[in-house]
Amino acid sequence: MSRPSSWSIARHRGPEGPLTGYKIAYPMISADSRRVGFNGVALGRTQVYGQVADAVCIQSPRHHPPSSWCDCGFYCFHTLEDARDLACDPQYQHCVLLEIAASGRFVRYELGLRYARQTVRTVRLGRCGCGRMSTALADGGPGVVGWRRLHPVCGLCAGPRPVLTLAAFATLSGGVTVCSDQAGDDPDAVFAPLAGVADDVDEASLVPLLSAEVALLQARLDQVQSRLEQLTHRSE
Ligand SMILES: [Zn+2]
Ligand SMILES: [Zn+2]
Repeated sequence: MSRPSSWSIARHRGPEGPLTGYKIAYPMISADSRRVGFNGVALGRTQVYGQVADAVCIQSPRHHPPSSWCDCGFYCFHTLEDARDLACDPQYQHCVLLEIAASGRFVRYELGLRYARQTVRTVRLGRCGCGRMSTALADGGPGVVGWRRLHPVCGLCAGPRPVLTLAAFATLSGGVTVCSDQAGDDPDAVFAPLAGVADDVDEASLVPLLSAEVALLQARLDQVQSRLEQLTHRSE
């Protein structure tokens, strides 16, 4: 996010209420699986914040973010499109989109805000790594002390792995709305399964598939067995 040519810090107050912004973050779950939160992608990567949070400065405890001579504070874009664009960067592939309400002191930039207090209103899940729309959150590997990172996944890629449903994430977050990021374009209008390729492999079709494979394997084993017997008899 570009810095303004001149700093203009203003305290937001008054009838228009908190300002709406958009950002990306990693969804997190606490080590005891009792709480969920969000982990920033740039500054504050070591911190996890909840639905409502006040920015803290990791450089100095002597001032309140956003300080005019420091880069502390929460950041957000003015538009969902800008946040969505950033989420396309490979290093942010497993991020989710947040719609937030910014309050308290803030600095306004051309593309967004740097501000003191944040309330996460909505979490939007993007696509799974396979390209399908994500429908749940699964354990995603790297975390920070006390927190594990979650990755958005589709049902097919999640497979038998345990997942956190969107409803469960919403409950643990304390009231954030969680949904799939369907807004904007209609992905199905551009991307669609190839003709003749199953869109989804459910258990009903998976079981006969596996049975067929097991039957084939059994037949092959019988063949090897009889061949072995033939060879054994021949050598006697
Ligand atoms: Zn600071
Ligand atoms: Zn997938």
